[in-house]
Amino acid sequence: MSNDTIFHRIMRREIPADIVYEDEHLIAFRDIAPQAPVHVLFVPKTDIPTLDDLQPAQAEVVGRLLLAAADYARREGFAGDGYRVVINCNANAGQTVFQLHLHLLAGAPLGRFGTPR
Ligand code: AMP
Repeated sequence: MSNDTIFHRIMRREIPADIVYEDEHLIAFRDIAPQAPVHVLFVPKTDIPTLDDLQPAQAEVVGRLLLAAADYARREGFAGDGYRVVINCNANAGQTVFQLHLHLLAGAPLGRFGTPR
């Protein structure tokens, strides 16, 4: 695989993770450094380093990530209370793992976001 990251190692079960969902298209596991009471990462199995690399023909990849996150929120019972999804892209957003992933944050009222540091 050309883009081998820690998330690929989790997918291959080479390192442990608290996996909460998996299907043929994506995997979801708890973030190791949670920023909210619920912090789950949704990662496609398609090899895509950043949102900037996403091709029009791959639009379904992001759709599946969003649907899986929304399904998880409903299943876990916090969809009505609310949640946030975030995709960090490249340096100014603080992306650290270069395999596309969606953060699902929930479980408490969340602060505002996007403030320059
Ligand atoms: P980002 O900053 O958007 O690239 O997010 C990467 C996220 O991956 C961070 O929130 C990290 O805490 C998380 N992370 C890094 N390594 C692991 C791991 N082994 N298991 C679970 N989450 C991880």
